[in-house]
Amino acid sequence: METENTIKKLLNEIYEPYTGKTLGEIGAIQNIEKLKAGVKVTLELGFPLSGYEETLRKNIFSVLEKMAVKPLKIDITSKITARAAQRGVPTLNQVKNIIAIASGKGGVGKSTTATNLACAISHEGGKVGILDADIYGPSQTKMLGTTGKPDSLDGKKMEPITNHGIQSISIGNLIKEDTPMIWRGPMATGALEQLLNETNWKELDYLIVDLPPGTGDIHLTLCQKIPVTAAVIVSTPQDIALLDAKKALKMFEKVKVPVLGVIENMSGHICPKCGYEDNIFGKGGAKKMASEYSIDELGALPINTDLRHSMDCGNPIVIENINSKISQAYLDIGRSITAKISILNKDFSRKFPNIVVEDS
Ligand code: ADP
Repeated sequence: METENTIKKLLNEIYEPYTGKTLGEIGAIQNIEKLKAGVKVTLELGFPLSGYEETLRKNIFSVLEKMAVKPLKIDITSKITARAAQRGVPTLNQVKNIIAIASGKGGVGKSTTATNLACAISHEGGKVGILDADIYGPSQTKMLGTTGKPDSLDGKKMEPITNHGIQSISIGNLIKEDTPMIWRGPMATGALEQLLNETNWKELDYLIVDLPPGTGDIHLTLCQKIPVTAAVIVSTPQDIALLDAKKALKMFEKVKVPVLGVIENMSGHICPKCGYEDNIFGKGGAKKMASEYSIDELGALPINTDLRHSMDCGNPIVIENINSKISQAYLDIGRSITAKISILNKDFSRKFPNIVVEDS
């Protein structure tokens, strides 16, 4: 028992960088079992971690090495659970967590980030979907390389279109590529709700909502009617983009949706020929915004031709070349996002039955 207690004490204090907490604080230690020879430790974390598991195991080994317990077996599993959304907004049965990806301005790379993050989280073992909420300017069909209209098996709900392991739906799947959406606000917001509620999502751990730029009708509907677990802001580093990014941040704060942090996109450009770094849109703006508003800077991605090309081909860089520096950055940001979600308040709403009051 003494060995187990000492191991527990040491494990409890190991810092887990993606959650920013110790293994003890996140309740990761499930079991410590003394075997005939050696000890088996079982850990459970609340986010997908297939590419991180080995690093974590090595870290734990190096701490426990001092105790000379041999052999030491460390089992690490991941269990993703639903976290709370805005109060009063019912959660969806088939979707555990909804992540809104927002920006102030258009063209800063929000859709690019949403797509690659979806692929990165899926690569780590999460079941991921994308809802393209940009009704007026959908990009996801092109970026995810989905073609054709969604099927309906029951004549009521649409089946999500799956490509690269990501379930998705976009208004772009329902209209011709060059058809402009000339709709007033209520029609666009109605379409968003239909896309969300009338798609037959299949047991998703995370549904990423790729929002339109700004803070308009779609955002209002999202905040009031869609159960959002958390939001992430994407911005280029320059002041003009950050100004609007701050408005998006304030919008989520108003409706009490936790903002996990800001991602700086188009953060400098390194010339592939001479290696000169040209900060076309500046650099470090997101870091400044993060410290000003006490949120995290989740990561920064440079301007990169391979990334742009991969998106144009519908084969996101995380799928095309997982070993590239950019893909590794997306994996890292994806882990930060899902790890931070894993420590938000749990969703208990689906555990309670609906109470119906009837005249008798
Ligand atoms: P938004 O969703 O903010 O409107 P997009 O994701 O559609 O922006 O990106 C706009 C354009 O910029 C796209 O052609 C995309 O491929 C390109 N792009 C986005 N991020 C980068 C980057 N880091 N490097 C190079 N091109 C990028």
